[in-house]
Amino acid sequence: MRIFRALNLTLNMRKLFSILFISFGGMQINCAQQDSIMFDRIYHESFYNGQAYDNLRYLTKEIGHRIAGSKKADQAVVWSKGLMEGLGLDKVYLQNVEVPYWDRGPKEKAHIVETGEPLNVLALGGSVATPINGLEAEVIEIELLSDLRKYGEQVRGKIVFINKPWDESMVETGVAYGLNAGQRSRGPGEAAKLGAVAFLFRSLSSSAIDDYPHTGGTRYIDGVDRIPAIAISAVSANRLSERLKENPKAKVYLEQHAAWKDNVPTHNVIGEWIGSEFPEKIITIGGHIDSWDVGEGAHDNGTGTMGTLDALRTLKALGYKPRHTIRLVFYMNEENGVHGSMAYGRYAKDKNEQLIAGIESDAGGFAPRGFDIKASASQVEWMQKHWKPLFEQKFWVSRFLSGSPGVDSGVWGEHFPNTTMFNFRPDPHRYFDLHHTDKDVFEAVDRRELQSGVAAIASLLYLVDQQIDELHKK
Ligand SMILES: [Zn+2]
Repeated sequence: MRIFRALNLTLNMRKLFSILFISFGGMQINCAQQDSIMFDRIYHESFYNGQAYDNLRYLTKEIGHRIAGSKKADQAVVWSKGLMEGLGLDKVYLQNVEVPYWDRGPKEKAHIVETGEPLNVLALGGSVATPINGLEAEVIEIELLSDLRKYGEQVRGKIVFINKPWDESMVETGVAYGLNAGQRSRGPGEAAKLGAVAFLFRSLSSSAIDDYPHTGGTRYIDGVDRIPAIAISAVSANRLSERLKENPKAKVYLEQHAAWKDNVPTHNVIGEWIGSEFPEKIITIGGHIDSWDVGEGAHDNGTGTMGTLDALRTLKALGYKPRHTIRLVFYMNEENGVHGSMAYGRYAKDKNEQLIAGIESDAGGFAPRGFDIKASASQVEWMQKHWKPLFEQKFWVSRFLSGSPGVDSGVWGEHFPNTTMFNFRPDPHRYFDLHHTDKDVFEAVDRRELQSGVAAIASLLYLVDQQIDELHKK
């Protein structure tokens, strides 16, 4: 690696290199080679000196899960502001956000009444409570919400149980998730309209042998009764389904105590590294700092926040000087309201800011595979030709496809339809085994995979900063 250290070029001077070749120590180096050298330095720095994993340990073990509006979420805000200050960014500040606060209360309980068999359940985010002593009712099991209509009056007084197994055939687990997530959010409202007393939902888990329930957002319909909405583990869902086949009149007991509290003032955390050539043009990078109130919010989304922060640290450690302003944003409340990204978009719009690019990491800290890109077809093609080869051969990062921005970027991007967006895509196979569960803990993250992702993100950030003006001409 000594040769790369010797090549400690002032890399914001790319313009000087734009005449295809430069001469260095008798060697001819073109722009692509220069980028390749920078990639090597970034990967070296990330693997050897990366701090994302250690920072993640603190966030998950010392702070823990951190639902928006909770004391833990505020602790994460204060601590991560300190981290950004420690990086020596030019400006670090908090941005006011008001969030709704939902509190789960004591642990949920559930069992099959006739057999006494326990069921592993977890209230869905935003759910109301059962009566204080729980409720007991017969169950209507369906796969699709649309099947509910044919039951008509029979739904009254029952628990509606959606038991749709995960589509195992999909490598893109995010797509499989998306196929069922709509039923989770619309289910309680639709079931309540027909007089159901509770809504029980088979967890969105990519593992069929998973005995952990997965929480996630749900909602109600205005003017319709609000009924308790509860996720059940895949294994418990299978057990209940078997018992219902043996005895269609079997009853389930449910007890949970969740409640909405008053709105709470909190913050997005923002750090800015001012650009040397175009300080007014801003590249936003980051992810959400809140998590659900289970596990430790490690993959979702400790890795996204600690990873993007470490991408900036990596470039700084290499003596990099950005051409554009790089703004690191930790959004609050992605999980149950997206108020952080809404506020970020509003403030930026009011100030008429030039948000030229967005990079988001919120798909876990597994080995990097690439990026989904929101840009014109010709721009994506140009990146596939010029950027992808740099990542592909040595680093096994090869996905450069048109796609959606992350959730937070998508929200603030509504005010900025022309911003080029990148959504970091790590390997998707195991993410939805852990997502929104007690299993999403620090131990589920691998340091090498995480730092490899940091390097991929830092490399992308470097290319965006160096070449976005060129890209925007395509
Ligand atoms: Zn997330």
